[in-house]
Amino acid sequence: MLGKRFEYNGRSWLPLNQLQSELRAQIEGKLKDGIYRFEDVPCCICDGRDFEALSTRDRYGLYMPVVICRQCGLIQTNPRMTQESYSEFYNAEYLQLYMGEEIPRPYFFASQLEKGRRIFAYLSTQPLSKPLATMSVLEVGCGAGGILHYFKQQGCSVQGIDLGAENVAFGRERYGLNLSRGTIADVRWDVPPDLIIYSHVLEHVLQPNNELQQVRRILPDDGVLYVELPGVKDVRKSCDREFLRYLQNAHTYHFTLTSLKNLLQRNGFELIAGSESINSVFRKRKGEASPAIVNDCPDAMSYLRSNEFRRKLRPPSASELNRWSRSAVLAALKTIGLDRAAKARYEAWKRR
Ligand SMILES: [Zn+2]
Repeated sequence: MLGKRFEYNGRSWLPLNQLQSELRAQIEGKLKDGIYRFEDVPCCICDGRDFEALSTRDRYGLYMPVVICRQCGLIQTNPRMTQESYSEFYNAEYLQLYMGEEIPRPYFFASQLEKGRRIFAYLSTQPLSKPLATMSVLEVGCGAGGILHYFKQQGCSVQGIDLGAENVAFGRERYGLNLSRGTIADVRWDVPPDLIIYSHVLEHVLQPNNELQQVRRILPDDGVLYVELPGVKDVRKSCDREFLRYLQNAHTYHFTLTSLKNLLQRNGFELIAGSESINSVFRKRKGEASPAIVNDCPDAMSYLRSNEFRRKLRPPSASELNRWSRSAVLAALKTIGLDRAAKARYEAWKRR
């Protein structure tokens, strides 16, 4: 365990609003009643079962056993919820728990469009087999298609696939994008895509080897795969050294660039470029022999332990001060029995 504060205690690390608190209670209820079920799985990179526990909670205070594989260093949620339980969770709770409110789709689309601009600029600096603007692009887990819309504006032909029916309908109707509902197994192409994008998707996938085998089947030999996801070894920058903020129950895998590279290598890819943040580009590896797995366990553990140590030394951030003062005020109100009324007034004030 990374420390006492990583042990499940039934309390949220993040301050939650009324809606989030209700959803959190709903999920806890389903976990206690066995509606959400867990399964043990072997490591998807090395097939081992020798794990060390890191945490048993996520940032919402939900039960989430996070372990690191001692043989290859892949950090993973294990045991994890079954596919059936995750499907129910994504339908019933996921978005509102994470966002705290219903985010208007046009606003979300605009943020994805900006992300598309950033990804396009990043890929433009990479050695590609043909000009980026002439490529055909497939995005898996495309949402409403904001990223693809940017690529289309630059001249690419685009196709997207996503499980969310409303997102797909929005991108099709409002922007005329070629989006359909499904997973990568449902993709049909006349011309295979030169570029496949996974932006904040692979860390949610339960069977990444199956997924990447499908990518390998579709991608031509000179094609490229772009993978973007939150990297463990970027916690210092992205989460102000707070690994608890990084942990969220929807993520089944928590990659470093090395563990992502190990996974991709197992499935016949090689790294072209990448960073710990993580933005990365892969291509299909020529030749059959798979390079040996690099065990990232010592390095990842050293990063996380040194991060925990240094976190205690740094001055508190603005968000921490805000969280502490809110907790102190709430605790004071609770002792005089005014917490519920104050909370209701605060929520009403926020809704104005
Ligand atoms: Zn492993």
